[in-house]
Amino acid sequence: MRTFTDLSHRPVTDAGPTHPVADVHGRPAGLGDPQGRLISYLRVSLTDKCNFKCVYCSPAEEDAPDTLLTRAELARLFALFAGLGVRRLRLTGGEPTLRKDLCEIVADAASTPGIEDVALTTNGHRLAELVEPLHQAGLGSLNVSLDTLRAERLHGVSGRGARLERILHGLEAAAGRFRSLKLNTVVMKGVNEDEVGALVRFAWSLGALPRFIEQMPFSGGEVVPLSAVRARLEAEGFELLPDGWRGWGPARHLRGRDRDGLEGLVGFIGAMTENFCDDCNRARVAADGGFQACLGGHERAPLRELMRAGAGDDALVEAVRAELSHKAPRHRMTEPGLVLLPMRGLGG
Ligand code: SAM
Repeated sequence: MRTFTDLSHRPVTDAGPTHPVADVHGRPAGLGDPQGRLISYLRVSLTDKCNFKCVYCSPAEEDAPDTLLTRAELARLFALFAGLGVRRLRLTGGEPTLRKDLCEIVADAASTPGIEDVALTTNGHRLAELVEPLHQAGLGSLNVSLDTLRAERLHGVSGRGARLERILHGLEAAAGRFRSLKLNTVVMKGVNEDEVGALVRFAWSLGALPRFIEQMPFSGGEVVPLSAVRARLEAEGFELLPDGWRGWGPARHLRGRDRDGLEGLVGFIGAMTENFCDDCNRARVAADGGFQACLGGHERAPLRELMRAGAGDDALVEAVRAELSHKAPRHRMTEPGLVLLPMRGLGG
């Protein structure tokens, strides 16, 4: 029986890169930006198509299939970025499970020299049938978006095609199969604030890490500050203590225990109220092959066009470094009136 002070339940295998990105002299090497931040984590959007219509995500024009990166182009980019110091790849979308070649892409990513972890973010709709093949393909970490445990409410948030029982079935199949399983909840004003406690308990019961995300301004919406989420959990009887555990990403964690003695970590991604950019280690490749240095950025290096025009690796690296040289010290998502590039092609 674990006690509140026993931290063995931390997902230690998800604790960041094991090999520091450094040159032979121990000096930091790889993809750096003007602030000296090193990129070790690349998020790759496999498609801008999605079978859910989440209210907080951006509507996107459906691209013709040939605008997406092919499996071979993706494999080339995985190797290129791994050679530059990227250690973790996250496959996202749109909805990445809509790609018929998803498991082959995961296998390519997992077998790329230098890559230590391959992660996937999904809405869970196809998860039950994919758990086994994804596991076989070498998937290490899984994030599933779960904004509510109420079927009707899910329809309101993500559209009539979103079926809660399918997601729950998928989560049941996935529990315990991957190095880490996280449940991501975008907290929406007046929509799901009342479920934060239930979502924490549900995640812990699966052995998963619940994480709350402040809504970013991709499609309107009012920010619920994570301080309010924390206050609500405490009002519901959760005891929450600071915990310094950091994974690969921007989440901060608290160690918690509910009234029944159930315990675990809770992650908070304060995109809006707690600017998390100081130690940003990530960059993104959008579904159209554009390399984007910042989630809140407006420019992309067109890697797909360059590859299709016959560019060699040196030219691709030059384009990536040029884009990275504009990476802002902090995102500008809190600026009033700022219109962001669509989330669906970028993948969070
Ligand atoms: N379709 C997959 C899914 O639902 O997880 C992957 C793509 S989705 C764009 C990736 C993540 O971005 C999800 O966890 C989603 O909740 C989050 N997200 C989308 N729009 C957001 C917003 N406006 N603010 C905060 N998070 C957002």
